Amino acid sequence: MSRLSTTLLVFIVVARALCGQTPEVIAIKCGRFFDGKNLALAENVVVLIEGNRIKDIGTAIAIPQQAKVIDLSRTTVLPGLVDAHTHTFLHGINYDDAVLKKSHQYRAIWAGVAARKILMAGFTSIRDIETEGAGYGDVAVRDAIDAGLIVGPRMQCATRALSITGGYSPYGYAPHVEIPKGVQIADGVDGVRKAVREQLANGADIIKIYIDHRRRNPHGSDPDRLTAAPMFSFDEVKAIVDEASKVGAKVAAHVYTSSAAQTAIKAGLASLEHGIYLDDETFRMMAEHGVYWVPTLMAYMQFMSDPTLSPARKRLMTGTTERHRETFKRALSLPVKIAFGSDLDGRHETAGEELAWMVRYGMPPVEALRSATSVAAELMGWHDRVGTLEPGKLADVIAVPGNPAEDISLVTRVTFVVKDGVVYKHDPGR
Ligand SMILES: [Zn+2]
Repeated sequence: MSRLSTTLLVFIVVARALCGQTPEVIAIKCGRFFDGKNLALAENVVVLIEGNRIKDIGTAIAIPQQAKVIDLSRTTVLPGLVDAHTHTFLHGINYDDAVLKKSHQYRAIWAGVAARKILMAGFTSIRDIETEGAGYGDVAVRDAIDAGLIVGPRMQCATRALSITGGYSPYGYAPHVEIPKGVQIADGVDGVRKAVREQLANGADIIKIYIDHRRRNPHGSDPDRLTAAPMFSFDEVKAIVDEASKVGAKVAAHVYTSSAAQTAIKAGLASLEHGIYLDDETFRMMAEHGVYWVPTLMAYMQFMSDPTLSPARKRLMTGTTERHRETFKRALSLPVKIAFGSDLDGRHETAGEELAWMVRYGMPPVEALRSATSVAAELMGWHDRVGTLEPGKLADVIAVPGNPAEDISLVTRVTFVVKDGVVYKHDPGR
């Protein structure tokens, strides 16, 4: 090394030390260890973090002298969880009241509170899959988290989502009363292209559309099935995907039926959300086209505990959740990739319960954990940085007591959260 480069190196080291920029080194001693992919849990692994990255992982790695050692030998260490379908702007109040009576500013404060709860529950990355009438508020929450103003997970934002005229809540107001909708309404190929361009320009990372949904049906609808009338045409969906793909944005679709799902798959969507009535042929098509399924089982359960549910509605929701269970069980024997999504309306701190539903319905516990880590990260296109614990990845690490491979409900009791190398939660007593 020349004298000049040696001097330069010393200068850089001294300057970094003086500026406090020497990256912090943390060594986590894990009891059990799940890397996000491997179905077998490892034991007595050490995870070495330097700054915001994972530097090394192994059972025999040297722990540097300056490292802060965190002993998690009584816990299982996992990658930060990834929720591919959540709404920080939904807070369990009547939908019309949320859209029509709460200001966007008030709802953004709510979302900031939810973001903290989501992180503390162990979810270090989320797709916030539309603000439900609160405009571009999710972009503000995402940017405030990234700027360190508030605490929350890394976010991909869908902003306003897209539906057609007549296709979204609030419903039932007089024709002369113009009320804002919970999504952006767009019709026709030109209309949807313009809407996608607007959303992307205003900060959207992904585009969310409604490919089938509730619409007024002059001939009445099946009382035993959730209404899922077709929405966008194939050409409209194709235009949406085309416009989004120009800047690498993926498209997610709310869907219940196989016919609408197949339209979406052929048009090139990345993920189908809910999919209560999907058949085997559709799941096979999804696997062939690399389309992920985000089933969101718990979202439909939450309505069952609503004390104001009418008997007819209760019967409908009982049938729906039963059908969802049957579809989920069937999909487990097919090659479709299943990504975790909670889709909660409020109670964001309970998102981990979705894993328990997945396991109750037949998914092996470690497969469920993969769904909420590496698989969901792949869907987000973030598998190069999160979703697994490997050297070089971002340091998003959590821990739960005991062994979640034996008792998945332990994932609802997260004791330790690191995001981007920063410790946000550490309950050393557990
Ligand atoms: Zn949703």
